[in-house]
Amino acid sequence: MPVSRSAPARQRSLREHNLALVLGAVARTGPQSRARLAAATGLTKATVSSLVDTLVTGGLLQELGPSAGGVEDRPTPGRPGLPLGLSPDGPVGIGLEINVDYIACCTVDLAQNLRRRETVIADLRDQPFGVVLDRAASALSRALSDAHGHGPVAGVSVAVPGLVDTDHGVLHLAPNLGWRDLHVVEELRRRCGEHDLPIKLENEANLAALGELWCGGLRTDEGEPLRTFGYISGEIGVGAGLVMDGRLFRGQRGFGGELGHLPVSPDGPVCSCGATGCLERIAGQDAILSRAGLDCVTGPVTNSEERRLSVLLERAREGDPRAIGAIEEAGQALGSGMAALVNVVDVDTVVLGGMYALLAPWLFEPARRELERRVVGMRWAPVRLLVSGVGQDAAVRGAAGLMIQKVVADPASYVGARSDRSVG
Ligand SMILES: [Zn+2]
Repeated sequence: MPVSRSAPARQRSLREHNLALVLGAVARTGPQSRARLAAATGLTKATVSSLVDTLVTGGLLQELGPSAGGVEDRPTPGRPGLPLGLSPDGPVGIGLEINVDYIACCTVDLAQNLRRRETVIADLRDQPFGVVLDRAASALSRALSDAHGHGPVAGVSVAVPGLVDTDHGVLHLAPNLGWRDLHVVEELRRRCGEHDLPIKLENEANLAALGELWCGGLRTDEGEPLRTFGYISGEIGVGAGLVMDGRLFRGQRGFGGELGHLPVSPDGPVCSCGATGCLERIAGQDAILSRAGLDCVTGPVTNSEERRLSVLLERAREGDPRAIGAIEEAGQALGSGMAALVNVVDVDTVVLGGMYALLAPWLFEPARRELERRVVGMRWAPVRLLVSGVGQDAAVRGAAGLMIQKVVADPASYVGARSDRSVG
């Protein structure tokens, strides 16, 4: 029959789709009985039972005890009414963030709970690529060997502050690190000796936006989980990530979101990108510290960015006008940059993340005023400014969560790869 070759493929893809539907329902709403999963997904109870069996065998779902807090049904003949939850022994995702002044690494489980976290503070600006990658690979190796005690590793994603070719794992440009056209994924694989492990490279602000989406707990005015917003990542550089209806908007080639290089003062100082008067030369961490007179601070961690930032916060809390003025000036410039973003892409919420979440007590009001003043449609379509619920961990949490999200979106591939490995 002419259709015989395509029919099995269609059946298989339908089952793959339904596996994702069931696992996604548990991931979104917590433990559920088979009967409730059937009601939530519109599938028959028999189909749900068969899908659940595959997900339990595949190590993604687990039957919970009656006291697990899930929704329990009366037992039905042949099937217990116990709720099914995400398996605590299921796959973990690892996130690695290489930023200008730190390396962070974290491990999350299927429920996006944090299992392990490590930060290495270091000024990486003048360090050769190989030295930085050695340190990043060491942090990753420690996370990988620790993860083997938790469960299989679904994969690693790596956040970097620059323009990224995710398909080839190449960092094209990271102006603040002085890096250009580097094979980050290949070099990490070689150093960790992990040649088959999925490793994905992505822009730091994009991953931070996803970290906010999955772990931030922010809500709309109607009390729904926030699923559409612009996320502003403030570190040494300034980046933006756009989430539209729960999905990251990457632009055509993934090079968007370079908010820090928005020209706000054409005659201003020269930027690391080569242009002049970019937003990050006014609202970036270095610019704020410099205006606050914190170019050089001595202390336990001499001159580190973290030390200088904590001195800035200390002085702002004490009411030091120079520190507060430096932050307020950044807030005003940032507000005008965010207004440009909203005028172009029309989102109703902007989230201040990274360092800006720490500076919010002084930065928020000038930023909000400028945003409201410059958004053309403000009168008819108000814009809310919120502070990140995740703070400075957003990028590394988004990086780890991305690998978990891939499993939840396509459990069939994970279960298939796992059984291939156990057969092999
Ligand atoms: Zn620039």
